[in-house]
Amino acid sequence: MSEKGNAQNAAAHVGVPGHVDTDVHGNKKPALSAEDMNIMAESNSIALTTKLDDLIAWGRKNSLWPMPYGTACCGIELMSVMGPKYDLARFGAEVVRFSPRQADLLLVAGTITEKMAPVILRVYEQMLEPKYVIAMGACASSGGFYRAYHVLQGVDKIIPVDVYVPGCPPTPEAVLDGVMTLQKMIQDHHPRPWCDGWVAGEFKSDAH
Ligand code: SF4
Repeated sequence: MSEKGNAQNAAAHVGVPGHVDTDVHGNKKPALSAEDMNIMAESNSIALTTKLDDLIAWGRKNSLWPMPYGTACCGIELMSVMGPKYDLARFGAEVVRFSPRQADLLLVAGTITEKMAPVILRVYEQMLEPKYVIAMGACASSGGFYRAYHVLQGVDKIIPVDVYVPGCPPTPEAVLDGVMTLQKMIQDHHPRPWCDGWVAGEFKSDAH
């Protein structure tokens, strides 16, 4: 319908004086009572009450921009989480970024060696605030079966981790569950003392 047609239609529904509203057979429709007009006016109004903090948290949790840090087999598993079958997009976190400056969720997927630790620290420091970290799999969470001098026994030795996803590798469902857990933490304004007490550059290695 044209813009003019829309306007005429709208005018007919609000009872513009002089306009004769007719049905499909051309018969005149009964005029709306004042009470009906009030009900119509009220039904077009929407009232929403919330707290600004809650609104911001709602936006944040539904628009996480993840940066995958895949270093081993878990990285391959992470790809399937992004794929059409498990479809991370359903949770609003499909905008994968490969620059830390455009990401607020670091997905650590794989073994982190001590040599790599300063690099992941730099990546974390460059990310946008507020930022979140998910350690995906046994290696990222605890070093996995690499109980060796050269492997970081968990990426939380170098950066604060919000959610640990167990498994070797974790199933895509487990990773999705980890993302949903993080979303719930954001929505609930869950305290994050592990971030508050975090000191940049402090290397807490106990691998030896
Ligand atoms: S947790 Fe298992 S699957 Fe994941 S990177 Fe380590 S060895 Fe590979």
